[in-house]
Amino acid sequence: MKVIFASHNKNKTREIASLLHGLIQVYSLEDIGFFEEIMETGSTLEKNALIKAQTIYKHTGMNCFADDTGLMVDALNGQPGVHSARYAGEQKSSADNLIKLLEKLKGKENRKAYFKTIICLILKGKVHYFEGILPGKITQEMSGKEGFGYDPIFIPAGFSKTLAEMTLEEKNAISHRAIAFKAMRNFFIENINS
Ligand code: IMP
Repeated sequence: MKVIFASHNKNKTREIASLLHGLIQVYSLEDIGFFEEIMETGSTLEKNALIKAQTIYKHTGMNCFADDTGLMVDALNGQPGVHSARYAGEQKSSADNLIKLLEKLKGKENRKAYFKTIICLILKGKVHYFEGILPGKITQEMSGKEGFGYDPIFIPAGFSKTLAEMTLEEKNAISHRAIAFKAMRNFFIENINS
């Protein structure tokens, strides 16, 4: 079965294609010649994932899925959340986002936070959602060089190092994204022949 991943991120597509290998064939937006940017205008991760998946479904009529991730910080009432990618502004970098977050948390005792990934799958015209959550806490300063985004300031619960101090394998064994994609993988295993 062919399924399109509504993302322009090649690394993510490769990673996810390997996770779903043997079950479905994952096609990227480049594979189908779709180069436009899909605007993420939703107020929640669910809405943004749905917007991306629906855009591709309407364009191709093919089975497809999209994901959206955010970092929810307790002391900031769940911010940056759906705005995680552009927390410090439209033109700002990941480093700017981290600096802004550490600044906002200065002096705050409650450092609890969690990453959440939502996947929206449109299969035979029906919408399905999958979720992955990674609880943890925000550090006082950046540490580590691996990963991306907020990894240098996030320590997963039960660990004593940041995601940026972990190898890709270590991170993939526990990450919010891996949990969500494993849930979708199980769904395909259970439903592919039914
Ligand atoms: P996306 O929906 O996967 O593009 O993620 C949105 C934003 O959340 C990214 O631009 C990052 O700032 C942040 N983010 C998503 N996943 C991770 C992660 O695994 N580690 C750190 N930051 C992440």
